[in-house]
Amino acid sequence: MTSEDYPAMCLNTAHAFASPFEVVFATRTDACWLYWCEDCRHRGQLLDWGAAANFPEIAIHPYAIAEGIGFWQTAALLGSDDMIWMFLGLIEMLDMEIREEASV
Ligand SMILES: [Zn+2]
Repeated sequence: MTSEDYPAMCLNTAHAFASPFEVVFATRTDACWLYWCEDCRHRGQLLDWGAAANFPEIAIHPYAIAEGIGFWQTAALLGSDDMIWMFLGLIEMLDMEIREEASV
């Protein structure tokens, strides 16, 4: 049995508390080995990016994540969907800037 087919619960705490009788099985892990269901895969994407960038400090008003894996994991686990999507938008912009710099 591989980690791919091992049943695990999505680690989004909002899921755990919102539907206690409904186990949300996770199908994805991120770079930090946390589990997410399809609805929460953007949380894993945030951590994947953080891992690739060595968990830097990032901020987009009114949210911020401090430097370090612990702060990134906490943000992915406890952050609101609004916060996660804002950071993913910021990350997309940062990636574009990096690509533009590289092509100059
Ligand atoms: Zn979920």
